[in-house]
Amino acid sequence: MPKNSSKTSIFLASCMLSIILLSLISSVILYRQIANLQLGPVRTELVNFINEYEYELMRSTMAFTEEYNHHNDSSEHGEFTKWFNMLLSRYQGLERVQKQHSQIFNRLNLNLLKANLQRIQLLVTRKDIREEANLLRVEQLFNELVIETHQFQTQWAFQNEDLVLAKQKKTLSSYQNSVLLILVTFVIGILMVIYLFSNNKKLLTLQRTLEQRVYMRTKELKDSNSHLISEVQERKKTELQLMQSQLAAEQAHKKIQYQANFDPLTKLANRNLFLERFKQASIRADRNNTFVALLFLDLDRFKFINDTLGHSIGDKLLQEASSRIQEVLRATDTAARFGGDEFAMVLSDIEQLQTVDLIVSRILKSLACPFRLSGNDAFVSASIGITVYPTDGKDSETLLRKADSAMYKAKDAGRNNYQFFTAQMDIEANERRLLEAALYKAVEAQEFCLHYQPIIKSKSRGIAGVEALIRWKDEARGYIPPTEFIPLAEEIGLILPIGEWVLREACGTAVKWVENLSEPFVVSVNVSSRQFQKCNMAEQIAGILEETGLDGKHLMLEITEGLLMGDDQQILSQLQEIRDMGISLAIDDFGTGYSSLSYLKKYPITTLKIDRSFIQDIDIDSDDDELIKGILSMAKSLNVSVVAEGVETIRQAEFLIENDCLLIQGFHYSKPMPAIEFSEYLQQGGSQINLELAADRDCA
Ligand code: C2E
Ligand code: CA
Ligand code: CA
Repeated sequence: MPKNSSKTSIFLASCMLSIILLSLISSVILYRQIANLQLGPVRTELVNFINEYEYELMRSTMAFTEEYNHHNDSSEHGEFTKWFNMLLSRYQGLERVQKQHSQIFNRLNLNLLKANLQRIQLLVTRKDIREEANLLRVEQLFNELVIETHQFQTQWAFQNEDLVLAKQKKTLSSYQNSVLLILVTFVIGILMVIYLFSNNKKLLTLQRTLEQRVYMRTKELKDSNSHLISEVQERKKTELQLMQSQLAAEQAHKKIQYQANFDPLTKLANRNLFLERFKQASIRADRNNTFVALLFLDLDRFKFINDTLGHSIGDKLLQEASSRIQEVLRATDTAARFGGDEFAMVLSDIEQLQTVDLIVSRILKSLACPFRLSGNDAFVSASIGITVYPTDGKDSETLLRKADSAMYKAKDAGRNNYQFFTAQMDIEANERRLLEAALYKAVEAQEFCLHYQPIIKSKSRGIAGVEALIRWKDEARGYIPPTEFIPLAEEIGLILPIGEWVLREACGTAVKWVENLSEPFVVSVNVSSRQFQKCNMAEQIAGILEETGLDGKHLMLEITEGLLMGDDQQILSQLQEIRDMGISLAIDDFGTGYSSLSYLKKYPITTLKIDRSFIQDIDIDSDDDELIKGILSMAKSLNVSVVAEGVETIRQAEFLIENDCLLIQGFHYSKPMPAIEFSEYLQQGGSQINLELAADRDCA
């Protein structure tokens, strides 16, 4: 579009130029035509010249007639001479004029004029001029001149008129042409102005559209530019993200690879790498005819520390223990963590089993040193089970299983101990596995029941309450004590359904007894720390109370010191909530754990249950006597009630009564009994029943 308009402009400009040029040419032509008009005066001069010649000719003729007439004898010829001389000079003038204006004078016979004038001059000078013949001759010559002149005059006059007319015509047409030219030029000019004007309008709109287009295009370009910029930025961002994600992927890959082979917490090998190292070691052992020792290590009391001091302290302990193990091992050995506080080690290239004894002793010694954790010294020992390749097994699975059994044996043997695998261990481990399976089945089939052991008011011998104790009779094994299956249930998580069942069952049973009693009565239920850690106990208990209709004031929960040691805010709030329901809170087996009195103030504890071990030593160990006295006086000052557990003899009972222990529980009063028996017991007001019978009764 701009190209077209520029072409038009060039065309218009050249048109204007040509118009100016045409006007210039027309003006020049006109000017010249006007200049031609000045020829007039020249012609007038010529006419005058010819007229003067004619006049002089006429005067000369007249003067000759007068002066040379034969009747006139006068010799005076002055007038004639004067005019004749004038005529002669006029002739010379004519000759000049004819040269200048040959066109006009070409018809005048100058030769005749010259010849006649010369003849007249000759004749006039003759003496016989007065003779008639001569006179006539002169007159004839003059006449010829007059006629010639006259003829020329008439011809010239005509010719002159024609010429003037032609010239005028020419000038007129020239004028007309010029005017026409100017007119045409003017019209063209006007047309061009009109064209330019209209075109200008078009051009203006064109310009506007063009400007608009340019604006739009610029805007589009700007937009696309900014779009491009943002796209480039976006691309850069994406590239960066890609790089980052690549980096992250690489790191993740490394991490995965690391995680595939190492334990992230302790940086020890994991099970994978452990098995790989064992494989390599066993190949070497086969080749070199040596042994490989496989160690299974479990930290003693780790669970307790983890539960009481918290998981982060537990993790620190694991890390510290790991580095101690690493330090003791040889470069060719591998230590691995299988999870929790379970460690395994491959001791390769063993030629004599004494080497294993040496390394294992060093490990135990190293771990027995106190661990400094958060300002407290923690004492952790380890139990190690050992199997030997190829003596105890060929594959890692068998060897690990056997080492695990040996480890349990070491634990049973009093901890901080190691045991080489024996065939007997295998049998025991197998039994444990069978028990585990049986426990799962028992939970599903609800093979449990509760026995109830009364808590006696020492002074009045009235019944203050009852402790619910779980019983499980397996079809194959018969009666299995809770001390055997409760820790296993805690370990494998089955304590949660079992614990909930105990609570529901105890509350449901107790509510019937409470209805028939006028005295305050409390049913005491053992609750594992695990239950508090994994469940919202306050919520669960509230539900059970509502379900069974038992008032909270008739329920007591027996918890262990370990639960309070963790300083867990969540546990505190759960206990507070439970306490707010009117439920009593007792610390079971008091004296066996930390026995820190600070938590008695911190937690809403209502009761302490002095552990059986102290009661059994009454009158035997005076230290224990003092301890019991101390607990009793402290409890009194803290306004906490005390229950003495495991009271078997009258002496023990007397000692407790003497020292103001108000509540007693033990075989001396009653063994735990089924609910029906306990109902009877209650009806009889707590009179002695057949203890043997009650103790042996099973869940059926
Ligand atoms: P515990 O809470 O200390 O319960 C007292 C244990 O001492 C009971 O053993 C009881 O039968 C026994 N006992 C009572 N008086 C005497 C006595 O005079 N002499 C002797 N030698 N023993 C006496 P049991 O029923 O075998 O329970 C053992 C442990 O199992 C309980 O100790 C408790 O820690 C746990 N347990 C029992 N039932 C449950 C339960 O329902 N839940 C939880 N978490 N643990 C339970
Ligand atoms: Ca208890
Ligand atoms: Ca107890």
